[in-house]
Amino acid sequence: MDDTKQTQLRQLPGVDSIVEAGTKSGYFDDIPKSVLIPAIRAVIDDLREQILKSDETLDRTCFSSNSLVTEVKIRSARTMASKLRRTINATGVVVHTNLGRSLLSPLVIDQLSLIATRYSNLEFNLEKGKRGSRYSQVEDILCELSGAPAAMVVNNNAGAVLLCLDTIAAGSEVIVSRGELVEIGGAFRIPDVMTKSGAILKEVGTTNRTHPRDYENAICDNTGLLLKVHTSNYSIVGFTSAVSLPDLVTIGRRYHLPVMEDLGSGTLVDFSNYGLLKEPTVQESLAAGVDVVTFSGDKLLGGPQAGIILGEQTIIDRIKANPLTRALRIDKMTLAVLEATLQLYRDEKKAVRQIPTLQMLTMPIKVIRCRAAELKSGLDRLSDQRLAAVLLEQVSKAGGGSLPLLDLPTSCVGVTIDNISANAIEQWMRNHTPPIIGRIESDRFIMDPRTLQEEELGMIEQAFKDLLANRSEGK
Ligand SMILES: *Cc1c(COP(=O)(O)O)cnc(C)c1O
Repeated sequence: MDDTKQTQLRQLPGVDSIVEAGTKSGYFDDIPKSVLIPAIRAVIDDLREQILKSDETLDRTCFSSNSLVTEVKIRSARTMASKLRRTINATGVVVHTNLGRSLLSPLVIDQLSLIATRYSNLEFNLEKGKRGSRYSQVEDILCELSGAPAAMVVNNNAGAVLLCLDTIAAGSEVIVSRGELVEIGGAFRIPDVMTKSGAILKEVGTTNRTHPRDYENAICDNTGLLLKVHTSNYSIVGFTSAVSLPDLVTIGRRYHLPVMEDLGSGTLVDFSNYGLLKEPTVQESLAAGVDVVTFSGDKLLGGPQAGIILGEQTIIDRIKANPLTRALRIDKMTLAVLEATLQLYRDEKKAVRQIPTLQMLTMPIKVIRCRAAELKSGLDRLSDQRLAAVLLEQVSKAGGGSLPLLDLPTSCVGVTIDNISANAIEQWMRNHTPPIIGRIESDRFIMDPRTLQEEELGMIEQAFKDLLANRSEGK
């Protein structure tokens, strides 16, 4: 190592001297020690690395306490900012698992804040004046809306499936079609959940075809359950055959075996009434005579993360008595939001208007076109020759492992900017505050207004304005 580098390394300030400089100027007043000291160490480490890497001698100003203190302040602010951030979803994927899945209706928020910040009758029976059950808070409305004899809720649908299998079929065989051995994101696979529950998976049929006789031939003394899994995130098309739920229920009755269905996305609304593809409803599963059905609270239902279990009273009672229930129990804030969301379903038209997931899925193309045009003209108004915005007719997806074959016609805005690649635009948008998530197609940055909120159009314009300004200063 040459002498100048040695000298510069020796000039590196110590932690104490930076603390002193920042404290004297009042610069570090709002920064706790637990954040401050690591930030200072990181700044010194960076400087040391620069000295070692750089061929030229670093400017003296790099070592000035002013510049170091500013750098420490920026780093500390970054550490202290919320990690979970509001994000703009311009992907058009409505139930976007990475971006928070379902948005809650603004109508449920008052109830959430009241129950969260005040005491409640969470586990207190007000009529009897003694201990009650948290599950009873949503049981009646779930039964009312779905026609189920009994109901129960847990933390999420993965938990609901695990709990049902553990309660009904631990130690015995569960028959499932090979065409339904679903893997959803996050390492949730039906065979693995089965193993964890202590049930024994008995696969029948083939990937594309399963017949009633396949189930019947597999039934033995140790069979405990017939399971149907709704293939909510993919579809098997072509030469296919599956056993319908009513037919599976008939087999179950004949052999005195319970039948369970994991509906996954589970909806209370028949989407075919809104010009979308048919998705089996919860009511239809129950009407078919299924003994127990489970589904998510935050997929097509458009509520909070939760796992809803509906079915026969005797099965629900056994589930409630399972010790695993306590480990999977739903939290009171979720319960408050779930109840308030379910209340909206008493008037289906209101639900479709007021629950964002339903509203976005059923959004008329006319409305989307207007929004796309508004976004495009906002970008045109930036009057920068380098930017070109075009309207593109495309399709949006339901997402979240729901309605895999559904292509929702939509109108997107595609942007190109001279001398700035689509990748660079995407990165800029993602690093913006709030982050804007779109996608790249044919070297264009694409935004689908289906999943944008009214006020977000202006935020997107601002992000482009900042980007153009940043790149015109020759930075
Ligand atoms: C999504 C899904 C689950 C898991 O539901 P979570 O609420 O995400 O836990 C289970 N089964 C199927 C078929 C699903 O689609």
